[in-house]
Amino acid sequence: MGDNRSKAGVEPSERTAIGITFGNSNSSIAHVVDDKAEVIANEDGDRQIPTILSYVDGDEYYGQQAKNFLVRNPKNTVAYFRDFLGKEFKSIDPTHNHASAHPQESGETVSFTVKDKAGEEDAPSELSVSEVATRYLRRLVNSASEYLGKKVTSAVITVPTNFNEKQRAALIAAANAADLEVLQLISEPVASVLAYDGRPENKIQDKIVVVAELGGTRSDVAVVASRGGMYTILATAHDYEFHGIALDKVLMDHFAKEFMKKNSGASDPRENAKSLAKLRLEAESTKRALSLGTNASFSVESLADGLDFASTINRLRYETIARTVFEGFNRLVESAVKKAGLDVLDVDEVILSGGTAHTPRIAANFRYIFPQNTRIWAPSTEATAINPSELQARGAALQASLIQEYEVEDIEQSTHAAVTTVPHVTNAIGVISTNEAGEDVFVPIVPPDTAVPARRTFHLSAPKGGDVLVKVVEGNTHIKVTKPEPKAKENGTSKAAKVEDADEDGDDDSDFSDDEEEEEEEKREKVWKIGSTLAEAGIKGVKKGGKVEVSITVGADLSVMITAREVGAQGGVRGTLVS
Ligand code: ATP
Repeated sequence: MGDNRSKAGVEPSERTAIGITFGNSNSSIAHVVDDKAEVIANEDGDRQIPTILSYVDGDEYYGQQAKNFLVRNPKNTVAYFRDFLGKEFKSIDPTHNHASAHPQESGETVSFTVKDKAGEEDAPSELSVSEVATRYLRRLVNSASEYLGKKVTSAVITVPTNFNEKQRAALIAAANAADLEVLQLISEPVASVLAYDGRPENKIQDKIVVVAELGGTRSDVAVVASRGGMYTILATAHDYEFHGIALDKVLMDHFAKEFMKKNSGASDPRENAKSLAKLRLEAESTKRALSLGTNASFSVESLADGLDFASTINRLRYETIARTVFEGFNRLVESAVKKAGLDVLDVDEVILSGGTAHTPRIAANFRYIFPQNTRIWAPSTEATAINPSELQARGAALQASLIQEYEVEDIEQSTHAAVTTVPHVTNAIGVISTNEAGEDVFVPIVPPDTAVPARRTFHLSAPKGGDVLVKVVEGNTHIKVTKPEPKAKENGTSKAAKVEDADEDGDDDSDFSDDEEEEEEEKREKVWKIGSTLAEAGIKGVKKGGKVEVSITVGADLSVMITAREVGAQGGVRGTLVS
């Protein structure tokens, strides 16, 4: 993690640290008060601060004010630049920069040409993406300092899981240039999990969590194993086609067509830069309104040819026209689970994070994909869900408050559970026990995907006493599928588990199925399968009703040490297996 820290170290006692999420579309700043993370509103009262800078007559605007200038001053407005940090021009995707300052090649990096000074009409400046990031971060930090009433010196910043070393280094350099010490870069999904796990009422539990970060220009999914408070990223998936902007586009097309239909002969507002910018801003605000209400209005003054336009749309219609995008999110989540070698039945929680995660249909679709007992953390599915737009900044702030007292060197050395992607066991390790029916069953002691090193202990009862053979084996799960009984339809009370009820069928606007006699779903359940034997230990002369304690220690090198002894008795058996 040597790259993850700032070169400009600040004495721990002098630090004021915050959490920052620095997105392509929006950024947020957060701090911790009384053990609770809180997102800070900037001077304009915004907690989601558009990642945009705009220059007008030498004045620099940032956030929402800069975003509003996309209509009147697009050329001197820089947007969607975060992903260009640490990249060469030939490897960037400038798709989203068409309506603002264009990125250009500049040596090894990317730059933008804007008029950032007053009175020098002919002398625009070429700003490298690093310089733009530095200026933007400086504004963010100033807002936080102003709010806190003291100078913010340090931060934990979130980054996507696929940010490479060069991108990380560029971000740290840009922050340092803004006089900000980077305590650590943590991955966005881990920050989101931390925001939930950091709630004071939370109990740390072993679980598999799918984090879906749905932003404006990208969607990222990570499958995270949380074992004994350690987080391991098992798989990630990324998509740059289905995202918030794709949803805006659906609404822009819809209203542009309606506008032309209502005003025959009027020009297409998508073909004029200013009209397009207006269309885009209003489409986004209509989309946001549809996350809260079932109806939303769309209204633009002088949209095109001097004509005003006002209309409305209901949520069902929106969900129908945006269906392709929603299906893209479904596929991405499913592919990540598959990539992790898991089944949806393995997933305990799904966390929806990022602005687009406010959309109720997305949570409803995920509810349909995952089994009933998987918690779907989204505003529309869980009353106690945290605002998806605030998760990453809150997680980063919690992490910052945890590590701000350490010296820079110690942070670098630290293998703090929350931030490290550590090696982990693939299969479970456990013992074979006998169930009531006299069958051998697998009892997991070290769950699959446990980060190592790890030590777990289990008490095996020996009701009959005598010589007890402890068999330590690997175990893995497989999905047992039971077909429904053919006659189950008669009384409609098949035991087969239904995945979801009728109105969540992921269908379009005619989606309230009248069909009472639904096909029964087959029953899918997770069952343990006994794998290869790792060790056998015989404990002699265990007293009747006694207990045998089995301890399994998995080393950082994945070697396994097993000890077995009778509880309360002398002696025991110990053995080490090398992976
Ligand atoms: P990225 O880096 O992917 O561009 P980000 O992390 O910078 O995104 P976010 O704020 O997470 O930014 O996501 C921005 C997207 O979320 C925008 O497309 C915005 O329109 C959308 N969004 C914000 N609030 C809502 C809402 N309430 N309902 C639906 N979409 C929303």
